Amino acid sequence: ASLVTVLFHLGEMATATQSLDEDTFQLLGAELGYDIRVVSPEDEEKELFSQFNIDLEAEAEGEDDEMLEQRPPVVTVMGHVDHGKTRLLDAIRNADVGKGEAGGITQHIGAYQVHKEHEGVDRPITFIDTPGHEAFTAMRARGAKVTDIAILVVAADDGVMPQTIEALNHAQAADVPIVVAVNKIDADGANPAKVRQQLTEYNLIAEEYGGETMFVDVSAKQGQNIDSLLEAVLLTADAALDLRANPDKDARGVAIEANLDRGRGAVATVLVQSGTLRVGDAIVTGQAYGRVRAMLDEHGENVQEAGPSRPVLVTGLASVPRAGDTFIVAPDDRTARQIAEKREAADRQASLAKARKRISLEDLNEQLAAGKVETLNLILKGDVSGSVEALEDALLQIDVGDDVDLRIIDRGVGAITMNNINLAVASNAIIVGFNVRAEGQNAEYAEKEGVEIRYYSVIYQAIDEIEQALKGMLKPEY
Ligand code: GDP
Repeated sequence: ASLVTVLFHLGEMATATQSLDEDTFQLLGAELGYDIRVVSPEDEEKELFSQFNIDLEAEAEGEDDEMLEQRPPVVTVMGHVDHGKTRLLDAIRNADVGKGEAGGITQHIGAYQVHKEHEGVDRPITFIDTPGHEAFTAMRARGAKVTDIAILVVAADDGVMPQTIEALNHAQAADVPIVVAVNKIDADGANPAKVRQQLTEYNLIAEEYGGETMFVDVSAKQGQNIDSLLEAVLLTADAALDLRANPDKDARGVAIEANLDRGRGAVATVLVQSGTLRVGDAIVTGQAYGRVRAMLDEHGENVQEAGPSRPVLVTGLASVPRAGDTFIVAPDDRTARQIAEKREAADRQASLAKARKRISLEDLNEQLAAGKVETLNLILKGDVSGSVEALEDALLQIDVGDDVDLRIIDRGVGAITMNNINLAVASNAIIVGFNVRAEGQNAEYAEKEGVEIRYYSVIYQAIDEIEQALKGMLKPEY
């Protein structure tokens, strides 16, 4: 049978699932007479670290409950353009002034922490200071999970707009809980109830309507209700997430912003995710390494150490890492340098092999039948909204049985963007272009990342091919 070549999703990126899938591939390899070795980026890293006697997993397993301490939630603000994301981040920053920190938040380092009193306890909250889901998705595409909670900003005088939907799709695809900030309630024509109504369609049902999502009416402009919004973030974190980390070990985390500074050389803002980072530590982040010379917080103050969920600007790196690169503290300078160099070499090779690394349904037909694949994620892009809707409706009507899940994780009108491709990488999705294409650089990027884009100009043809692919994914009945 000739099946369409499609990329497919191997379920969530859980470690347990990965090892299962690896078994599957090896089985298949044995059957076909090939020696197949599946190396996930995580495994690659593990192997690299093990050469230096660093074993992050054993370390994590050795942690019992008592070693874990509550850590602040890390929040990203997303939403449609002009709905007030930047203004809201400013308002949150300003609301914190006067709560103790002298001078307030003066430095843009890519993230900041504010404090909120909750049930008599001072609770810090970390905000990623780059609004929008583009940064969020670009980081996710590199395998970094930074955000614990997304604030979805929707202007009450404008309602749900295309990027609102895009943003919520991105958060939902990453399993990140959403708090909705209904902004601009001071504006003429503000209709917060309508926003609640509109979002029910996307499974964001307000608590007051019997749902689980917290909606807070705010005015970023007037600084109104910011405190309630912070309260909602903490309540959501406490209800939905178990945010704990061990502060008593070498730090690990993610670089969230980096650049070359004229005076200071390579500077990077890192978010510590576990452990504690200290001045003098040898770190390696992506292909950059160095000894932490100084650390600055968002108040422009020097700090000596940074614990879980703390963002700090770090100087002392020999080169500039990429946003989304993870970092670890190495035992010494030499190890840090060697890890960075090995990564650089591996990266050169990987970029050659990458496009071939992702799996096509055509090649793995039998393995799909073995029942390991459960979800096909699709991103739909079309020339007009009518065709996108028609395509979506028809796809959702395909009878795929109960065993396979067809998820349309994003849809929109217009050419295929970098952002669509990043989401496809992060979610192992296929992009369907209906009378639209990925142009130039974006097409190259998709190819480099091994993301499959299928182009159609006839709806039934798209449906037909995807249906065939899905049928190949059905588990056999036992
Ligand atoms: P972003 O594109 O989502 O980052 O939006 P901005 O934060 O740049 O805000 C877009 C416009 O909306 C600016 O002119 C803001 O001053 C305005 N704006 C933001 N928040 C509010 C608000 O609460 N009330 C009113 N009336 N205007 C707001």
